[in-house]
Amino acid sequence: MRYHFCPKCGGKLGVNHPKKINQPKCTDCGFIFYQNPIVGVAAIVIKDKKVLLGKRNISFKDKWCIPCGYVEYDEDVRFAAQREFFEETGLHVGIKQVYEVHSNFHNPAQHTVGIWFLAEVIAGELKANDDLSEVDYFAFEDIPELAFETDGLVINKLKAENFL
Ligand SMILES: [Zn+2]
Repeated sequence: MRYHFCPKCGGKLGVNHPKKINQPKCTDCGFIFYQNPIVGVAAIVIKDKKVLLGKRNISFKDKWCIPCGYVEYDEDVRFAAQREFFEETGLHVGIKQVYEVHSNFHNPAQHTVGIWFLAEVIAGELKANDDLSEVDYFAFEDIPELAFETDGLVINKLKAENFL
């Protein structure tokens, strides 16, 4: 079990069901501590058959990714994608359809379900910000070292479908 104490009452967590170690139950108040994946969102912006990528400067430092972030607890997923994209690139985007969904297991402590949206730039000026140190558009042949395997899957799909 990853956690030992109840977040509600501080009581000791026990195994609720032997096959569900990620659902411990408090031995004092009965609270069941469900642990589910969190949701990540990424926005795909393409210009002249090149995809916008950002170079990371905190986790997975100096590797590249499709600009992304986590959905806040009380936030709509599409709004989260717009917010994260703006924070990291300075560009305001309109969110279009869902392009791909993957489970990300690159962080063993936190399973993330990633949603990649197609997006288009509405306004703003491209400038790396927040968790990114550089932003640029890349042709498929020039894709730099990626932080996340699933971004690679998405980029391969973009290539196969002639977006890149
Ligand atoms: Zn409790």
